[in-house]
Amino acid sequence: MQQNYDTVRKIADLFDNGGIDEKEIEKAITTIIEAVGEDPQREGLQRTPERVASAYSELLAGYRTDPIELLNGALFEVNYDEMVIVRDIEFYSLCEHHMIPFLGRAHVAYLPNGRVIGLSKIPRIVDMFARRLQVQERMTQQIADLINELLAPRGVAVVLEGVHLCSMMRGVKKHDARMTTSSMLGHFRRNMATRQEFLDNISRGSTPLRF
Ligand SMILES: [Zn+2]
Repeated sequence: MQQNYDTVRKIADLFDNGGIDEKEIEKAITTIIEAVGEDPQREGLQRTPERVASAYSELLAGYRTDPIELLNGALFEVNYDEMVIVRDIEFYSLCEHHMIPFLGRAHVAYLPNGRVIGLSKIPRIVDMFARRLQVQERMTQQIADLINELLAPRGVAVVLEGVHLCSMMRGVKKHDARMTTSSMLGHFRRNMATRQEFLDNISRGSTPLRF
């Protein structure tokens, strides 16, 4: 199992340039507050640079989340070969074009090939890729690739449904604010019936994303 960890870390695309520089973020936020004509000394804004810096540290922690540590050994060899589906995983990300949130839910499935992952780990993998400056398409692909490398399953399917506040708040292309992206690997790509079983499952009883 050890041998593919290097590849897993490569897919995780981590930064090794130290931590997030909160002091620099604080300076930048003060500059923005001034640039929009606000008064950084006004009571409500005094601690805003500090709060924003700490929020970004949390919202962008995914660049420094080691996927192997995150797994903490929760990979198991089992004789189970039916489809595993984890649906309706909430995610919150920041679009890399505007640094404004996009959020929604992720559905992940795989067909085991002798190896499974602890159920609670899949939402954490989604989080690891969500907590970055992202585009939904890339995030979908990264989740699928990482699980594929980690488990070497017979197939992986990832569907993300997101709403993009940068479109909604800015009043442009409102009809484009909702987006569905998918990545199908192995059996999910090749086999219509397998893919359909997954798609039927995630649409069963689901409600449209609403905001
Ligand atoms: Zn955007």
